[in-house]
Amino acid sequence: MEPINVLVIEDKKGDLVSLEKILKASGYKVWSASRGGEGIKLAKSVSFAAVITELHMPRMNGIDITRALLRVNPQISIVVITAYTFISSAIEAMQEGAYGYVTKPFNSSEIRIVLERAVERFYLLSSDKKKERFAELSVKDSLTGVYNRRFLKMYVANRISLVERTTERFSLLMADIDYFKKYNDTKGHLAGDQLLKRMCEVFRESIRQEDVIFRYGGEEFIIFLAHTDKEGAILVAERIRTVVNLYMPTTVSIGVGTFPDDGAEFEKLVAKVDKALYKAKESGRNKVCIV
Ligand code: GH3
Ligand code: MG
Ligand code: MG
Repeated sequence: MEPINVLVIEDKKGDLVSLEKILKASGYKVWSASRGGEGIKLAKSVSFAAVITELHMPRMNGIDITRALLRVNPQISIVVITAYTFISSAIEAMQEGAYGYVTKPFNSSEIRIVLERAVERFYLLSSDKKKERFAELSVKDSLTGVYNRRFLKMYVANRISLVERTTERFSLLMADIDYFKKYNDTKGHLAGDQLLKRMCEVFRESIRQEDVIFRYGGEEFIIFLAHTDKEGAILVAERIRTVVNLYMPTTVSIGVGTFPDDGAEFEKLVAKVDKALYKAKESGRNKVCIV
């Protein structure tokens, strides 16, 4: 998947490193420059959704950088960094078109949330195609391409509202790779990533078109099985377990739960499925369990 590009312009090495760390952890592709001119040159060849720049730098300051960047791309979201005592220059940068500011010393939550909004604004101002792309990025897991945990809750809550007060059922599987830590330790993290991707392909091939896969945690997945009761869900889970046994260099444990029998609300249902998974692990792994 295409990454979201974010540029950091900061002449103080230590600050640059901490900003890079915070932004990388948020999932952005982070580029950096230690001077304004260098950053503007980069912006001419890379499409940045957002730029976070230091205000107080010799030669080109943040206000000049803001003007120059907006000439390169008027949609780019610019966030300036300032010490609280210099907030008037941050306001000046915003009058020039910057999106917002963050203050020093850094607060990582503040940076994360301001950047998230800045990136969102960039996509909202962009073409319909880019908007679609952003909508997709915000619900999908970048490694495996399956839906992410954030989307799971929205999705299941929506499905519940569609089937409650009917006799319709659906089930959830929670699958967790057995001894995955050991696999990573012996084969390496990249091989681990590959395995996660292949695991999602195995899931995809074992379910129906309308069933949906979510990455729930590191090596934990939830599979939504539409129009499926407990009995049907156990069959699907056993099929997945068997295929993994046959074709994968690992095994999986799977917990099974059904709406509304095991919970009529999202949280309750997931808690029950999690409990079933725990039982599968406890009883020796490479198992399918219900509770
Ligand atoms: P169990 O059988 O009890 O599930 O043991 P486990 O080792 O699978 O479980 P544990 O929760 O102890 O370890 C999960 C491991 O998953 C730890 C972490 O290194 C790995 N992991 C989580 N996310 C990723 C990822 O995105 N890529 C890779 N390669 N490994 C990941
Ligand atoms: Mg595991
Ligand atoms: Mg786990």
